[in-house]
Amino acid sequence: MSDEYLNTHENLLTLIGCTPLVKLNRITENLKGQFYVKYEANNPGHSAKDRIALHIINKAEKNGLLKPGDTIIETTSGNTGFSIAMATTIKGYKCILAVSSKSSQDKIDLLKTMGAEVHVCPSDVAPEDPRSYYEVAKSLHQKIKPSIYINQYFNELNIEAHYLSTGPEIWKQTQGKITHLVACCGTGGTISGTARYLKEQNPNIKILGIDAYGSVLKKYHETGKLDKNEIYPYKIEGLGKNLIPTATDFSVIDKFTKVTDKESALMARKIAVTEGMFVGYTSGVAMQGTYQLDAEGEFDENSYVVVIFPDHGSRYMSKIYSDKWMKTQGFLEPEPKKINKKLNNLTK
Ligand code: PMP
Repeated sequence: MSDEYLNTHENLLTLIGCTPLVKLNRITENLKGQFYVKYEANNPGHSAKDRIALHIINKAEKNGLLKPGDTIIETTSGNTGFSIAMATTIKGYKCILAVSSKSSQDKIDLLKTMGAEVHVCPSDVAPEDPRSYYEVAKSLHQKIKPSIYINQYFNELNIEAHYLSTGPEIWKQTQGKITHLVACCGTGGTISGTARYLKEQNPNIKILGIDAYGSVLKKYHETGKLDKNEIYPYKIEGLGKNLIPTATDFSVIDKFTKVTDKESALMARKIAVTEGMFVGYTSGVAMQGTYQLDAEGEFDENSYVVVIFPDHGSRYMSKIYSDKWMKTQGFLEPEPKKINKKLNNLTK
């Protein structure tokens, strides 16, 4: 009997990737085509970011850029940080993370629990501002030697990680039947690497990216220009951007659609009660985007659509899965006010 059969591992890192493809059965009832989810919460760090953390660290080791005890630095909305913290603990490196203040407290607490040093940076400043998480990470990298800076927004290895894993997995899991890929865009690594591989197998596969209202990616794809007027604050973590990441290969993306904070949050809750999947905010984004793309006539009866669900719901308990937070945002109706009994009797 082989170790593989017993599902026995030297450490958690060999569990990264090979995530399941799961059919959606109820939530897509009124859509045209068949829909499958690439369920990235099944990675040991509960998100797709495990793939890039492992790939980039392995490459740095191979190239002699890391020795035991060195420091790994990154900017992260949370998931990449968790994956790096997990990998650095297992491999024996230090981990320092510059995190956006938009990240949920759950995520920040998780990173600290995993042993990372966390610097929380304001989300509402320009990328070139010295307080932004990009600039904070860069200056820490300059100060701390020896260290490497993962720099996921501008690292070609982010794309390569998905080109070598997510793309081939989806191709095999669908036995080449996939017609459309739907994926969220943050750094763009997931969609770009997966799409590059899939388009090499079949250039007719349509690649559909989801962006946020408040982000510049969709307009840049359509016009080739960064329009600063598109930028305003929004709630979804890990989606969209106020700059153009080089980890996005816009040439392999056929079309973008933009989603709102409210519809995506409600959709994440709908996924839980229709499919039994407890997934993160951007899984709601991906599903909301899929509904919009269906309404825009992207799919027909022969469509075989793969939608990437990037992470697990447990990281959003104080946000989209808190009724209080949802009401504060105006995403759920407030409870009707209790009628004052005395006053009610007086008016009878
Ligand atoms: N969803 C979540 C929760 C994320 O953290 C990210 C990464 N920013 C994405 C989606 C988008 O993935 P990518 O960076 O590969 O575009």
